[in-house]
Amino acid sequence: MSVSEVEATATRPKTAPADLLARAYLDILARTEGVHAKSMLRMGSGDPTDPVEELLDDLMDTIEDRVSVRADLAAVAVLTARAIEAEPGLTRTLRRAAPVVTIATHTPDHVSAVNKVIEACALPADRSVVTSGHKLRLPDNDVFIVARDGTDKSHKPDNGNDSVAAALHARATIIGIAPDPRWQLPRDLMRSAEYHLVLPEIDESALFLVIEAVTGKRPQRPVDPAAIRSLDVADLVLALRPDRSPDDCIERLEGLVAKKGEFHSDGPSLEDLDGYGEAKDWGLELVADFADYKAGRITWDEVDNRGLLLSGPPGVGKTSYARALSKSARVPLVATSVADWNAASYLSGTLQAIKDVFARARRLSPCILFIDELDGISDRSRLSGDYVEYWSQIANSLLENLQGVDERPGVVVIGATNHPDKIDAAVKRAGRLDREIAIEKPDARTLANIFRHHLRDQLPDADLMPVALAARGATGADVEAYVRRARGAARRGRRALQLDDLLAEVRSNREPLSGDVRRRVAIHEAGHVVAGTLLGRMAVVGVSIGDRGGLTEVADIDGSADPDHCNDVIVMLMAGRAAEELMLGSPSTGAGGEPHSDLSHATDIAKKIELKFGFGDFGPIYLGEGRHDPLTTVPGLLACVKKRLDQAMLTAAELLTKNRMVLISARN
Ligand code: ADP
Ligand code: ZN
Repeated sequence: MSVSEVEATATRPKTAPADLLARAYLDILARTEGVHAKSMLRMGSGDPTDPVEELLDDLMDTIEDRVSVRADLAAVAVLTARAIEAEPGLTRTLRRAAPVVTIATHTPDHVSAVNKVIEACALPADRSVVTSGHKLRLPDNDVFIVARDGTDKSHKPDNGNDSVAAALHARATIIGIAPDPRWQLPRDLMRSAEYHLVLPEIDESALFLVIEAVTGKRPQRPVDPAAIRSLDVADLVLALRPDRSPDDCIERLEGLVAKKGEFHSDGPSLEDLDGYGEAKDWGLELVADFADYKAGRITWDEVDNRGLLLSGPPGVGKTSYARALSKSARVPLVATSVADWNAASYLSGTLQAIKDVFARARRLSPCILFIDELDGISDRSRLSGDYVEYWSQIANSLLENLQGVDERPGVVVIGATNHPDKIDAAVKRAGRLDREIAIEKPDARTLANIFRHHLRDQLPDADLMPVALAARGATGADVEAYVRRARGAARRGRRALQLDDLLAEVRSNREPLSGDVRRRVAIHEAGHVVAGTLLGRMAVVGVSIGDRGGLTEVADIDGSADPDHCNDVIVMLMAGRAAEELMLGSPSTGAGGEPHSDLSHATDIAKKIELKFGFGDFGPIYLGEGRHDPLTTVPGLLACVKKRLDQAMLTAAELLTKNRMVLISARN
């Protein structure tokens, strides 16, 4: 036997579990759907009181040539049968007694199909069934089915308890079917249920059974496991048809699943990406929870990570994050943006767009709903003028849809913004986007990893650190562009990509810093490092000089910082400027002038000390951000902040003067 033959045997599908009940259900469906089907049953226990044998007996006289049941219904029948078979005695109880049962389907799509299968297959044919929404007539009805897909507002635990009580009293069989029963079925139904079933996921043997039911033959080739994992019951209808061979069905199914754009297409998985810090941990936790949730091991309210607000400058990869996360979690991504919503020319259109996208996410559940440019919905507290009413309605509609975290089982919402300060506080409240993570611009090491990611297998042995250092301040999007342009340059030169091509792109023809400027930058950064080290509070994460200037990185202030700590951070921030004054006689514009400069950070902390941390001259107080800078609107604030910054500058100068020798040796 050749090697390839051995492998072929090894991967050939294992024999499926007997699935006797599933086969019986498929036969019954074939009959009730009015199709003539070859019997799916080939064996029985031989015990005439066995409920499956009873089903068999019912069927024996109707068996003729095959046609078939629709693939989606067949799949739901197999899964429902498996869920029922997993509960010892339930097959019998459903036919002979009056149990109370709930079935979790996880997705709204399966609710009506499960309802149909239960009515047609699990219950004796002579029962009088009434489905919720129709008038319950007792004692005529002996089965009460509550099927709720969670897409209607009335699908809540508070609704329908009266009917449940009446049905219980009349000793009717009660069956509740919903994606996540705890949040959608009547509370009393949940409390009285003796069986809580969970529809299992489709696996290879279930798929084979469905293919057999549709085509009449068992497939001979294995199925790509990835295709099975991201398979949707709706795909089955498209791929599985009676006029196709079983193997042809599988091939079409694999092709179909691979093409689904919404489903984790070609891009990277979250595991492959760097630069996401805490967001990556959050996402990986969610991946694990999604897996448990899909498999029925946990319920929706046991999933911790259900809402996230991602902030960060453009190009740090917020959109790519959502895509990678959905790929890792193997769930669809529904991507939308506030700009899309606002594209409608009337308010009603915008409100409808919001409603539609949430409804769509609920239909695709479990899934990730990504909302970009969330700051496009203004903070209601900052609204003024003619548009207040208009914008308030939009903001309220978003809040209302976000609100019901329990009414959107399986839908994880991720909002993204470049301006987290503009986000309405209500959006961040518990149950909405209650976790906020800022994605920072990548540091040098991360940049090197991102270069590696986009280079794929090019330049496999190159040390990318020098390029990363030259690219300080760049985002992931910049890196992607550098790599693309460097590839283009190499291609036009008809040669393989070289490290220099990358460097040239990163520098984009910028001259390296002149000797004098480099010296000044070195002194400035040395000032930060010396002060930081002497103060002993901040771990210096890295110092570097790139083409655009220098950078000293320290770990951030965290929630446990005391007033001294905050002041030390200001001193350290000012120490760059102080070192320039000390060694060169004057500061340069390098320490200030920009939103992310030392001076701006220092001023910001000084402001927070006064207005937010309650460490300053104002004493314990918290003032939120209004539309205007508090420095110009809060009387006395400017003087307090100024005093603190001046003091920090003095302290820094003192520290550095005392340690001039260290600073000088650092300079060289
Ligand atoms: P944002 O949504 O934050 O503006 P995007 O997700 O649109 O950013 O990122 C744009 C491109 O930048 C992506 O296509 C991706 O290739 C690249 N990119 C951004 N961040 C990273 C990262 N951390 N790792 C790899 N690529 C990244
Ligand atoms: Zn500095």
